[in-house]
Amino acid sequence: MSKNENISPLQNDDATATTRTVKCPKCDGEIILATDAEVGEIITCDECSAELEVKNLDPVELDDAPEVQEDWGE
Ligand SMILES: [Zn+2]
Repeated sequence: MSKNENISPLQNDDATATTRTVKCPKCDGEIILATDAEVGEIITCDECSAELEVKNLDPVELDDAPEVQEDWGE
């Protein structure tokens, strides 16, 4: 990936906005994170369905959530 673009934060005049956008470490997709999200919370990326654990909030850091192994039948 060699993106070289200026990061321009979205202007949001809506004072009632309770979410912010973070970047998925898996697919670079945007994830909406509630501002009241807590460290340790598991969020899911809408783009790639990755489950991510909130490691830190300021700045926001996401990490792979421990995968819950389903029964794969093998
Ligand atoms: Zn993703």
